[in-house]
Amino acid sequence: MSQSQETLSNLLQETRSFPPPAELAAAANVTAEAYDEAAADRLGYWAKQAERLTWSKRWDEILDWSNPPFAKWFVGGELNAAYNCVDRHVEAGLGAKVAYHWEGEPGDTRTITYADLQREVNKAANALLELGVRKGDRVAIYLPMIPELPISMLACARIGATHSVVFGGFSSEALRTRIDDAQAKLVITADGGYRRGKPSALKPTVDEAVAQTPTIEHVLVVRRTGEDVAVNERDVWWQDLVERQSDAHTAEPMDAEHPLYILYTSGTTGKPKGILHTTGGYLTHVAYTHNAVFDLKPETDVYWCSADIGWVTGHSYIVYGPLANGATSVMYEGTPDTPNKGRWWDLIQKYKVSIFYTAPTAIRTFMKWGDDIPAQYDLSSLRVLGSVGEPINPEAYVWYRENIGAGRTPVVDTWWQTETGGIMISPLPGVTAAKPGAAMRPLPGVSAEVVDDQGEPVPNGGGGFLVLTEPWPGMLRTIWGDDERYIKTYWSRFEGKYFAGDGAKKDEDGDIWLLGRVDDVMLVSGHNISTTEVESALVSHPKVAEAAVVGATDPVTGQAIVSFVIPRGSAGEEVEGAEFLKELRDHVARTLGPIAKPRQIMMVPELPKTRSGKIMRRLLRDVAENRSIGDVSTLADSTVMDLISEKLPGSK
Ligand code: ATP
Ligand code: MG
Repeated sequence: MSQSQETLSNLLQETRSFPPPAELAAAANVTAEAYDEAAADRLGYWAKQAERLTWSKRWDEILDWSNPPFAKWFVGGELNAAYNCVDRHVEAGLGAKVAYHWEGEPGDTRTITYADLQREVNKAANALLELGVRKGDRVAIYLPMIPELPISMLACARIGATHSVVFGGFSSEALRTRIDDAQAKLVITADGGYRRGKPSALKPTVDEAVAQTPTIEHVLVVRRTGEDVAVNERDVWWQDLVERQSDAHTAEPMDAEHPLYILYTSGTTGKPKGILHTTGGYLTHVAYTHNAVFDLKPETDVYWCSADIGWVTGHSYIVYGPLANGATSVMYEGTPDTPNKGRWWDLIQKYKVSIFYTAPTAIRTFMKWGDDIPAQYDLSSLRVLGSVGEPINPEAYVWYRENIGAGRTPVVDTWWQTETGGIMISPLPGVTAAKPGAAMRPLPGVSAEVVDDQGEPVPNGGGGFLVLTEPWPGMLRTIWGDDERYIKTYWSRFEGKYFAGDGAKKDEDGDIWLLGRVDDVMLVSGHNISTTEVESALVSHPKVAEAAVVGATDPVTGQAIVSFVIPRGSAGEEVEGAEFLKELRDHVARTLGPIAKPRQIMMVPELPKTRSGKIMRRLLRDVAENRSIGDVSTLADSTVMDLISEKLPGSK
């Protein structure tokens, strides 16, 4: 193979495919015609999607792309995001409909109807105004998964303040840098939340952060756990301030391009970037995709996305998308193993969840815990399953479909990023015969390609870089305060195209498979090899639960493949022996070819992951190359790297 240095070899052969159930296909929200319709008039197709929203003033122009890469969508249009997510449903007579079935980790529950949500959001909006927050100000939100989190976001949107949600597991330093970067005026937090069966404090972290942030004027604190907290001069209790407000507030229409929120990326590949999303295009994109990709029937479906709202998945598919569509959602505060490892399945059974959206990291964890756990619950209400966050290994996909979806439900593997705002590449559950491990096709209205290092589309069967070739409504508008970095990071690698930073291949049918971060791709004896494919080959061995693969400098091959493997719980003792390691290496060679055979396999108890559950390969590369370990500020568990280092032989 004489491939250009930077083109990915693709090795994995996966031939399984699951057509949509006939019944679902017959009643699907989106049919195959949508692809043709969008191809014939892309902007017209998006304008039609924008009709899903209620606009105070209609737009004059669908897209202004006269100053690329700075896009303006629905130019001249005006709308209020909170009005669209809440009030209009109440006005349409759906006030009594449940917006959220909220469940706290200790088992306490709150049922919040659209009418309740309207009152709560209005009170919170009035409270923000009393605290001096005005349109254009930034508000940091550092809350556990409690109803006050979406309420706070919507209250900001209602008055035109731009929110910046910071995941509640982050350190005071991470919070401080995000407050400073956005120059936020207010932080909304709680005394704490419940995690792993006990209260987990948040307020002390905020105190530490705001001791050094000159812009913060007030800290608004929700009482959740009732634990003692220090009360400082600028602190205000939510229960005092918000509760006494009027529950009436008139939402002010915002310009379509008004900044809705800033959200920092996960930091999987480096320093997080403050991604800016605006109002009209973003809301159009998430409402459309939530309806199309999950085939949402708002009258009958109960929808649950298990992400934390601190990630973009939660912003788009717990808050803005589902609420804009008037959906009924489940929202859960805690961890999947509290009080036992069946908690999620118990929630699905209890609320009769019909659409469920989670991440490969969670699915692999459940595989590790064993099939017998979900088997104890009635999951027959489920009709569509989704995955997001990382490439899903085919074995994990099939396990999910079989053990959670009873072999009946389509699984949609949705590719997107904080930057894209919403789903971009995904099967449609009523149209696509989905292949396990493939994100398949760009959604109608989305233009994506896989290109070589010259920016030319690769033929079917080829691998390269994923790019987006046309602007889309939910796209980031810039990196907050750093237009230069926006241009450099996304729009400089290939002229006129958005560079996603992910490797991908097109199979013989032209369907798209994501192959991991370009930064993670390994160069072995002149072949660029995808970490994802080698990991999927390892995970397809019955004794392997999870695997992470990196390329380490090697005198002979340039880079060599180093693997870190977590055995399945049931795998027993033999997984430590040389015999087993050989079996695994041979298994990879058989599955992918000898070029992909790992030089080294290390059995480890855990893998380093971001707080959003993504494997941080750059840290493993540091280990494999005996370097000191890089930025770990977004690592979920800082002790993991010690556990892994202990496993290392003296040198590599
Ligand atoms: P940073 O950009 O700071 O390194 P991050 O990229 O992890 O962080 P996110 O925006 O949360 O932050 O993640 C987007 C990335 O997640 C994508 O670029 C892709 O690598 C990966 N991803 C998400 N969904 C999928 C999917 N369905 N298949 C493959 N990869 C996915
Ligand atoms: Mg990224």
